[in-house]
Formats: sequence, C-alpha cells, structure tokens
Amino acid sequence: MIPYGRQDLNTADIEAVVSVLKSDNLTQGPQVPLFEANICRETQANFAVAGNSATSMLHAACLALGVSKGDIVWTSPITFVASANCALYCGAEVDFVDVDPSTANMCPLALERKLIQANRLGILPKVIIPVHMAGHSCDMQAISKLVKPYGIKIIEDAAHAIGGRYADMPIGSCQFSDITVFSFHPVKIITTAEGGVATTNCLRLSQAMQSYRSHGITKSANEMLRPDEGDWYYEQHNLGFNYRMTDLQAGLGNSQITRLSEFVAKRNKLAKRYQLLLHKLNIKFINPIEHCHSAYHLFIVHLPADIDRKSVFNLMRLAGIGVHVHYFPVYLQPFYLQKSFLPGHCPGAEAYYSHCLTLPLYTELTESEQDFIVTNLTKILGS
Ligand SMILES: *Cc1c(COP(=O)(O)O)cnc(C)c1O
Repeated sequence: MIPYGRQDLNTADIEAVVSVLKSDNLTQGPQVPLFEANICRETQANFAVAGNSATSMLHAACLALGVSKGDIVWTSPITFVASANCALYCGAEVDFVDVDPSTANMCPLALERKLIQANRLGILPKVIIPVHMAGHSCDMQAISKLVKPYGIKIIEDAAHAIGGRYADMPIGSCQFSDITVFSFHPVKIITTAEGGVATTNCLRLSQAMQSYRSHGITKSANEMLRPDEGDWYYEQHNLGFNYRMTDLQAGLGNSQITRLSEFVAKRNKLAKRYQLLLHKLNIKFINPIEHCHSAYHLFIVHLPADIDRKSVFNLMRLAGIGVHVHYFPVYLQPFYLQKSFLPGHCPGAEAYYSHCLTLPLYTELTESEQDFIVTNLTKILGS
C-alpha cells in the first residue's frame, strides 16, 4: 500500500539518534535546547518550547494563556481532535467556527458573524485556535484583525505547517498570534517520532509553557519563592505535567530540521505535479491562499457533488493506494455530540467533509507512484 504520508529518514538522522544513545543524557541534555534554538532560527520567533507532542503543547499553550473553567475556546471543526480537546483539558468549553469549504480553513466571514453574536450574548471566547489545514495558512491577518478588538488570544495550530510561509514571514513567527504549535509526528513535515513545539515572542508565555511541561517545577535561582535550601533544591509553583521531549527525539529533530526546506520544496513540487496531471478531471484542489507558501503536509482534492466519495476511496484502497480523509468534523464525534452539538452546526465543514479526499504525498513518493495514483483516480472517476 502506498501510504498517504510517511517520514523521510537518512543515515545522518539514524546516526544522530545513536549518538544521543551513546551520550550521558537520554533526556534533559543539550539536544532539546539546541532543537529549540533551531526552531527559533527557522520560524524567527523569540522563544520555542519543545514537548512530547503537539497535543501536549496545545494544552500547555492554553494553560499559559490562562484558559480554565468558565472560559470558552473556539477552533476549526476540520482538524484533528487534539485542537479541540486541549481546551477541555483545561476545563473550558469549546465551540467551532465554520470553514470555507474551498480552503478547509477557518472562514473569516463566519468568524465575524460568530463574534458579533457571541458578543451580544456575552459568550466570547478567551482563545481562538485556527488550524492551517494541509499546511496552507489561514488568513491570519483577517482573523487577528477580527479578534483583537475583543482581547481574544490566538494559538495557531500549525501541526501541518512547519517550513511554510505567510505574509513574508515563516509560519511560527507569531506575527499575528500569541503562540504557534507544530507537530513532529512521523506523517508531518519533519519528525521526532512523537514531539511538538510551541513558539512565541512573549517571554512570560514561554516561561509558563516551560513550567507546565515539567511538573510546574523551577530550578532557576532567580525564580525561587523560598530561601534556597542548597544545590538539590527546586520549587513547584503550579500543577504542571511531564510533557518533556527527550534528547533522543530532539537529536532526531536537529538532524531532520537541516532538511526542512528541501522537504517543503519536494512536497510543493509533487503537489504542483498532481495539479498538472489532474487538471483535466472535474475535481477541485484545496489550494493555499495568496501570500502563503504552503508546507504541503497533505494534498487534498474535492470530488464533484455527484461522485460517491466512499466508493472512490474503497476502489483506490483496493488498488493499493492509501488515500485518506481529513477530517471528519470534530463536533460530529460521538464524544462531542454528547456535549449537545448538532449536525448542521457548521455547514461549510460538512460540505467540505462530504467530498474531500487526501491523495498520498510525502517526500519520497516517486513520480511513477504518482502516475499510478493519477491513472487510478482518472479511471475510477471516469467509470
Ligand atoms: C497531528 C496533529 C495534532 C497533534 O499532533 P501530535 O504531535 O500527534 O500530538 C494537532 N493538530 C493537528 C491539526 C494535527 O494534524
């Protein structure tokens, strides 16, 4: 089966992990701070806080922004469940802003309408989490302009988007947000096996996220609230977690990140080639907006309304092609329905979901595999 996505590891990556294994520190050694410095360099953000997954860092980001019981967080319905769950971990409520079905990203018009309504009802969110679907940036300039007057904070869920650019800056620069979170799961752009990082330009937020990722404990002499007990002494200041990234993971990340621009270029080249090969078919592509250079985590097509997506999916799988669907609207998950969300809550998301199909895209996908995928899709859609 040709997978829909997979990691790209070379011997340097493997040697990087082996050398950490042979070193003194498997965790909390030099690799994690080095990885954070590399992330800062790539994103031009002032601070980076690495953790054991993007999910953990979304949780830490919400906590750092003060999300707690009684608060509301808004995100996109077209995302992985983690973008919504992070708010619930904090005891907050979550709601969903509809997407533009042509981009699968949060729709600024839907956001504007929802803000006006929520303002009238006194149920504005504390934090909003737009998701850069497929690596294509949301219209962050518009989103930030809409939420700023209400004092709403922004976390970009950029799990798909490291190496991409928006408005002449790398995604993760936090030009239009408070915090950006990336994932390094193996299907994402670069990998640390499991892993994630949060970037921010705010010292206070970076310190808060550092604290939440490691039990709420500090070892810095200048942060102590009590008199120093001695060299063994540390203090717990809040209820944190063990969300730390290991040095093994960061060692892999430090090696992978040297190829970030090469990975993004290869993904863009393959995406462009898909568009050329598929342009005669009656399908639409989920394209990046203007001023966005996508990292192209996913290549998503939108099938015509009269096509049964499920049968296309099954026939492609039967041909050995690992097509996928990203994503089933989060509020339709049984867990969320039980929170009283109803079908029809976000019509744009449901329209998008009903006909989207993800074609395989990863750096080592060969042109002949791509031709095989295109030939099969063409045959299936033509029949
Ligand atoms: C993968 C993903 C996450 C979670 O990332 P992990 O590193 O696996 O925790 C969150 N949001 C989106 C949009 C994702 O695709």
